[in-house]
Amino acid sequence: MGTKYVYSFDQGNGQMRELLGGKGANLAEMTSLGMPVPQGFTITTEACNQYYTDGEVINDDIQAQIMEYILKLEETTGKKFGDLENPLLVSVRSGARASMPGMMDTILNLGLNEDVVQVMARKSGNPRWAYDCYRRFIQMYSDVVMEVGKKYFEELIDKMKADRGVTQDTELTADDLKELAEQFKAEYKEKIGADFPSDPKEQLMGAVKAVFRSWNNPRAIVYRRMNDIPGSWGTAVNVQSMAFGNMGDDCGTGVAFTRNPATGEKELMGEFLTNAQGEDVVAGVRTPMPISQMADKFPEAFAQFKDVCQRLENHYHDMQDMEFTVENGKLYMLQTRNGKRTAAAAIKIACDLVDEGQITEQQAVCMIDPKQLDALLHPQFDAKALKEATPVASALAASPGAACGKVVFSAEEAKEWAARGEKVVLVRLETSPEDIEGMVAAQGILTVRGGMTSHAAVVARGMGTCCVSGCGAIKMDEENKQFELSGRTYHEGDWISLDGTTGNIYGEAIPTVPADPNSGYFARIMAWADKYRQLQVRTNADNPRDTKQAVEYGAQGIGLCRTEHMFFEADRIPAIREMICSDTVEQREKALGHVRGPPGLSHDRPLPGSPPPRVRPH
Ligand code: ADP
Ligand code: MG
Repeated sequence: MGTKYVYSFDQGNGQMRELLGGKGANLAEMTSLGMPVPQGFTITTEACNQYYTDGEVINDDIQAQIMEYILKLEETTGKKFGDLENPLLVSVRSGARASMPGMMDTILNLGLNEDVVQVMARKSGNPRWAYDCYRRFIQMYSDVVMEVGKKYFEELIDKMKADRGVTQDTELTADDLKELAEQFKAEYKEKIGADFPSDPKEQLMGAVKAVFRSWNNPRAIVYRRMNDIPGSWGTAVNVQSMAFGNMGDDCGTGVAFTRNPATGEKELMGEFLTNAQGEDVVAGVRTPMPISQMADKFPEAFAQFKDVCQRLENHYHDMQDMEFTVENGKLYMLQTRNGKRTAAAAIKIACDLVDEGQITEQQAVCMIDPKQLDALLHPQFDAKALKEATPVASALAASPGAACGKVVFSAEEAKEWAARGEKVVLVRLETSPEDIEGMVAAQGILTVRGGMTSHAAVVARGMGTCCVSGCGAIKMDEENKQFELSGRTYHEGDWISLDGTTGNIYGEAIPTVPADPNSGYFARIMAWADKYRQLQVRTNADNPRDTKQAVEYGAQGIGLCRTEHMFFEADRIPAIREMICSDTVEQREKALGHVRGPPGLSHDRPLPGSPPPRVRPH
C-alpha cells in the first residue's frame, strides 16, 4: 500500500500533530471527545512535503485520496459538493505542527458557484446569507489562491456601503451582496484574464495548493525564523464542512480563552459577533461583544460552550484558546489549542493548575518557557494603571521591562537629570557608544532608527534596561528638543512610558513596580525547579557586582569568569599592556604594581534595572 495522505477527523487524534498539524490533531481529538465539530478531513504535512518534492504540484495519488475523502464527507453530512439539491460547502484551513496564528491562509465557503448560490438562496429562504457567503468566497479565493489582493475587494465593499449610505457590512441587503459578488467576479476577470472557477473540484485543488504554498510566504518564513520552527515540517490542510455564523441574528462567531491570557486569572475571556463569519471578529469589521453577553444572545449554546471549555481544560490540563461558531443557536467548535500567554499569566496558570490538582509540580516547571521569564526580572507597569492607558504608538520590543520617565534628548542630559533624582527616558535618533553613560542613567531608551540588533537594543539588553527601537513614526527635532508622534508634540521634560516587552509607547506616566523574583508565583516555580533539577547552576560573572547579583538570584558558584574583562577599565589597561610588552620578570612586576584595587569595585553599585548575569549550568 502507498502512503496514506488523508485522515478524516474520526481517524486521527491529538497525538498526531506531526502528521496532522496542531489544528487537525485537535479537531480529531475534539471529535473523539464527542464535541460538536463540523466534520471533515486533514491532508497531512507529508502531502505538503511531497507537493514540494514534486515541484509544487499535487500528484494524482494525493488528489485521488482527497476526492475519496470528499465522497466520505458527502456521506457523513448528507450533502454533495456542487449539488443543486443540498450543496456541501467547506473551509480549507492551514495547520502546522506548531501554532502560527494568522501566518498562513484560510478559505471559507468553498464549493459555491452561480448555480449553487441560487439554490442556496431559494431553498433557505435566506438569500442574504447565500450571497454573503458567495461574495466572501470570491474575495478569499481571489486573494489567497490567485493573489489578486484583498484591497481591491475591500474598496468595492466600501464603495457599496457609501452608495447605500450605510456603515456596517450587516446593513447591506441580499441584492447589494449579489451585486457585490458580480463586481468581484468582474474584478477577478480583469486582474486574472479568465472567469472565476466554477467547478468545486478545481476550486478545492486550487485552495489546497494555496495553503501548501502559504507555508513559504514571507510572513510565515519570518515567523518560523523567530520561533525556531524548521521549514522542513510543512503544513497540513484541513477541509471542513462549514458551520454558518452569518445566517442571521441567532448565529455568530467568536474566539475565547479559558483563562485570562494577560493575567492568568481563572475567568472565561473572549469576544463574539452575531451574524458574522470567520475573521470578522479579529479583523475589526465591527466591534465585537464580550463573551459574557453570549449568555443573553444564545443561552443554550453558551451553557454548552462553558461545559466544553471545562472539559477541554480538564483534558489538556492547560489554558485553551478556542474558536467557535453558532449556527441557528447551535454551537460548533472550530479550533482549540494551548493558549499563548504573558509571562505573568504563565506562572500564575502553572501554579493554579498544580493547586487544582490538574498537573504535577514537575509539569508546572516544564510548561514555562524559560525565555519568557526574562520579562519578570525587570520592572513592570502597575497592572491597574496599564489597563487604563492606551498606547500612542508601537515599535520594536528591543529590550524587556517597563520604563516611565521624562523625555531627554542627549546622554549628558540624561546623566544630569538622573543625578538630580529625576527619572528620564532617553529619546535618540539612534544611540552610539558615547551615549553609554546616559543609557545607564535612563529608565528606558527610545530610538527612531535601528532594529533588534542596533547599538541601543544590544546595549540595553546587556544592561537590562528597557528599550523600544526603530520607531519611524517619530518626527525628531533634536535642535529644538522636541519630537512629534501620533499628532502630538513632546518636549523635553514631558512624561512618557515604554513597554520593552510589547514595544508599546505611551504618552503619559504609568507607574512601574520593581521585579520581585523572591516572592509570589515566580518564587514558587523557581522553588519547584530547584527541587527537581539535577544540574548545579553557576554563573558567568566578571566582577563583584555580577557576583553579588548572581548570589542573590541563587547561583551556586561562578562557572565562567572572563579575566580579560577585569583589565578593560581605563586605569588598568595601560598597566596590562605594559605587562604584556615586558621583557623581564622585574618589568612585569613593576607594571602590575600599577594596578590598583580589585576589579569592578570602581563602580560596585548595581546599575539601575541591572539583570542577573547570564547563568550557565555545568
Ligand atoms: P487561522 O489559523 O488563521 O486562525 P483558521 O483556519 O482557524 O485560520 O480559520 C479562520 C476562521 O475561519 C476561524 O476562526 C473560523 O471563524 C472560520 N472558519 C474556519 N473553518 C470554518 C468552518 N468549517 N465553519 C465556519 N467557520 C470556519
Ligand atoms: Mg484559527
